[in-house]
Amino acid sequence: MLENELRLGDTIDDYCKRCRLLMNHYIVSIVDGEVKKVRCQTCHHEHDFQHGQGGRKKEPSGKSLFDQVAATLPQTSPPPKTIKPKKDRRN
Ligand SMILES: [Zn+2]
Repeated sequence: MLENELRLGDTIDDYCKRCRLLMNHYIVSIVDGEVKKVRCQTCHHEHDFQHGQGGRKKEPSGKSLFDQVAATLPQTSPPPKTIKPKKDRRN
């Protein structure tokens, strides 16, 4: 099932919030074959496994920010209502 068999104490790359870098970590907890907790080999900070990603990954420029801004703005131009032809009025 598992592509790479990981075991406690193995070294794995993960993002360390303290170091703010992708660092080598020891695996300290595995649940159902998935790494749950790791410990930074540099600062010994123990935390949940981030799958190599920090809480804030670099967002692709534009879209995410635009969505945030757009969500705060009132809709100045709502989509026009579609005018449906009334079949009833036809003779
Ligand atoms: Zn660290």
